[in-house]
Amino acid sequence: MSAKKKTCTICEREMVERYRPFCSRRCADKDLAGWFGESYRLTEQAPFEEMEPEDMAALEEALAEALSRREEDMT
Ligand SMILES: [Zn+2]
Repeated sequence: MSAKKKTCTICEREMVERYRPFCSRRCADKDLAGWFGESYRLTEQAPFEEMEPEDMAALEEALAEALSRREEDMT
């Protein structure tokens, strides 16, 4: 690993300041999806009890979008 150049923590392309520490919104979404999956698995019992329905809908939408993009990348 080299520290010379700041790279995206997801795909290791050059980091874009606006999306740091990622290169794009796409990678930021992937990270969110990964984090979301992780935390969901760890908590197990009703992690969203305190969330507003609108927040959940927005989160689910963002997650679904991020996941579908990830699948595209895998092909
Ligand atoms: Zn990236």
